[in-house]
Amino acid sequence: MKPAPFEYHRPRSVADAVATLGDYPGTARVLAGGQSLVPMLNMRLWRPDAIVDINEIDELDDIVADGDRVTIGSLVRYSTVERSSLLARRLPLLPRIVRHIGDRQVRNRGTVGGALVHADPTGELPLACLTLDAVVVAAGPEGVRRIPVDELYEGSYATAVDPRELVVAVEFPPPAEAVAFRELCRKHNDFAVVSVAAAGSRDDGGRWRDVRIALGGVADTPVLATASADRLEGTELRDADVAAASDAALEVADPPSDIRASAEYRRHLLPVYVRRVLTELRESHARQAWGEGTP
Ligand SMILES: Cc1cc2nc3c(=O)[nH]c(=O)nc-3n(C[C@H](O)[C@H](O)[C@H](O)COP(=O)(O)OP(=O)(O)OC[C@H]3O[C@@H](n4cnc5c(N)ncnc54)[C@H](O)[C@@H]3O)c2cc1C
Repeated sequence: MKPAPFEYHRPRSVADAVATLGDYPGTARVLAGGQSLVPMLNMRLWRPDAIVDINEIDELDDIVADGDRVTIGSLVRYSTVERSSLLARRLPLLPRIVRHIGDRQVRNRGTVGGALVHADPTGELPLACLTLDAVVVAAGPEGVRRIPVDELYEGSYATAVDPRELVVAVEFPPPAEAVAFRELCRKHNDFAVVSVAAAGSRDDGGRWRDVRIALGGVADTPVLATASADRLEGTELRDADVAAASDAALEVADPPSDIRASAEYRRHLLPVYVRRVLTELRESHARQAWGEGTP
């Protein structure tokens, strides 16, 4: 199928893009990598009056470290994240997780901002940003505002970003010491059936602090397993702590039944995957500590 007719705009600055979006209040769509938007247009599931193509806006393309914080421009491609040595050092969950997205073609075009706004409940990038406590920066007619990713998602494929706003970047606070990730897909790099990511740090006494666990595929948005994380605060992540936290993850799960899996199967998988991720978190930290002390 072909898309319904639309006006096409290719602004060269954020200010121009926001002004153009303002000319079509609520009826224009931003085009970034096009990996989700173009199929929606072709199937006529979306019929916007205008497309605002942001691919010529250079200021959206950077990855910048400022002290212990990192900012990634919204137009940065998955493949750039995958290859970035800065991100490998500072936010290793990101290069690791994007390797699970689609195929090479999708990763060469798909963008960080597009993934966050598209809001697929199984999307790997939203899951990672939620785990890492990231903040989305959006520019709109009233100026710039910051939306924590844990306040971004309002429902399946729905965000707090106003249609007149352009997501310009995502900001990451100082990273946790250890991260872990697991997902189950029906086939390699398919959309996930269930995905789990976690981050946390250990104090000098070996007790875990600030653990965050994010879940994908078990609700209509990515969700934080706060009850699980609370149970781990100040523990040594012993097997009994991990088991209790894994079961507690079910408290926030309200999984769908769809072509990939039944709700029942997802509920079965969730504690299993949380346990694997927390075990990996504990072991990755142990490996790191061993490596640092070894000549
Ligand atoms: C074959 C295939 C396999 C895939 N597999 C996976 C997978 O395994 N995991 C996964 O997570 N995803 C997968 N995807 C989806 C892919 O990640 C999408 O590219 C991504 O979700 C959207 O990014 P994009 O840059 O292509 O955005 P686009 O398609 O250009 O836009 C998506 C939506 O976001 C809006 N938008 C884009 N950028 C901005 C911005 N800066 N500000 C405001 N709104 C904006 C658009 O208007 C649109 O509503 C797959 C896609 C394909 C085609």
